[in-house]
Amino acid sequence: MPLDYLIVGAGLFGSVFAQQMHEAGRSVLVIDRRPHLGGNCYSEDHPGTNITVHRYGTHIFHTNNDHVWRYINRFTEFNRYQHRVLTTHRDRVYSLPINLATINQFYGVNLKPSEVEAFLAPRREGITQPRNLEEKAISLVGRDLYEAFIKGYTIKQWDRDPRELPAAIVARLPWRTSYDDAYFDDRYQGIPVGGYTPIFERMLEGIDVELGVDFFDNRAAWEARARRIVYTGPIDRFHGYRFGRLAWRSVRFEVEQLDCDDFQGTSVMNYADVETPWTRIHEPKHLHREKTHRPAGTTVIMREYSQVDPEAPYYPVNTEADRRMLARYEELNAATQGVIFGGRLAEYKYYDMHQVIAGALARARRELT
Ligand SMILES: Cc1cc2nc3c(=O)[nH]c(=O)nc-3n(C[C@H](O)[C@H](O)[C@H](O)COP(=O)(O)OP(=O)(O)OC[C@H]3O[C@@H](n4cnc5c(N)ncnc54)[C@H](O)[C@@H]3O)c2cc1C
Repeated sequence: MPLDYLIVGAGLFGSVFAQQMHEAGRSVLVIDRRPHLGGNCYSEDHPGTNITVHRYGTHIFHTNNDHVWRYINRFTEFNRYQHRVLTTHRDRVYSLPINLATINQFYGVNLKPSEVEAFLAPRREGITQPRNLEEKAISLVGRDLYEAFIKGYTIKQWDRDPRELPAAIVARLPWRTSYDDAYFDDRYQGIPVGGYTPIFERMLEGIDVELGVDFFDNRAAWEARARRIVYTGPIDRFHGYRFGRLAWRSVRFEVEQLDCDDFQGTSVMNYADVETPWTRIHEPKHLHREKTHRPAGTTVIMREYSQVDPEAPYYPVNTEADRRMLARYEELNAATQGVIFGGRLAEYKYYDMHQVIAGALARARRELT
């Protein structure tokens, strides 16, 4: 008897969908090419320490969606971590997103919130119709703050001149005239106690999972196993790159264990200057203050470097050409019978975790009604 669903990808989309279908009595098999569950949310204990490390970069759960929050809390408890980001520029540490503390420290002034507009206005160079990322950022915070905190980081992150990037990338850049330095303002926020991987273990309890298996190594055989396929891998790969490859930025991490209690005093430190080759340093120990057995005299850090690696897609570059190519692949999706496409790789969208969960729950609901 064929299975009801073969799910390609044990990341968040695949696992939530699998859990919902299994709960509804459908037969499900999940496969993943990686040797572990969780996709990019995967966490593990660094060997020899009690420090939980997010292998693919620090993941902070945040959402305003009550339904998603209730759902994810079935599988984990969250600690009370609130994300704050700092950035190093010319050997001095500033608060991000750009806020009143950043502005006052950077200029050596003591502005009140009501004085910020008048202070920044002449620094915005009269740009009212920004044509690219650089102009957009200058129109928001002025040239000095742009050059100190945005320009170098953007060049490292995207390997492009900010004048070649669309203004839309910084349209979301939060900046504030108050001292509020919270990175997210969502109602719910935290890190799963025990890390992310146990969430996936609980979601997939009672469900068959095969790890280290690439769908494309035996596509026809996998397709014959189930009535429906749920595909959460890269969309262009599913269609044999027929219209070309969608562009992604990737990151790589250098992990190091250090003989000190605390390397940088915070979980994520950005490095704004282009001369510093890494974009950020993560120190995961700071994500889990609830751990009473945090080891003394040792810590783990992860230096993050931005790069291109088609085998490790992280952030959609999403140029005009990518969007045109995506539209053509989406037409093929619509004409493909018996396959559900979901998640960040199959939809070529930068999604946060709560958006992926909401998408998978909604798709599962549609299947079941
Ligand atoms: C550096 C970084 C930091 C992030 N930080 C945050 C954060 O702080 N907060 C937040 O909310 N979100 C964050 N995110 C986003 C979060 O990682 C994603 O929303 C989420 O992991 C997407 O889940 P997914 O199931 O769509 O994709 P994935 O996690 O990528 O899962 C897809 C799975 O499919 C598997 N697969 C692909 N092709 C095949 C194949 N051919 N055969 C078998 N298996 C296959 C892959 O191995 C993978 O495990 C971050 C992302 C990155 C890159």
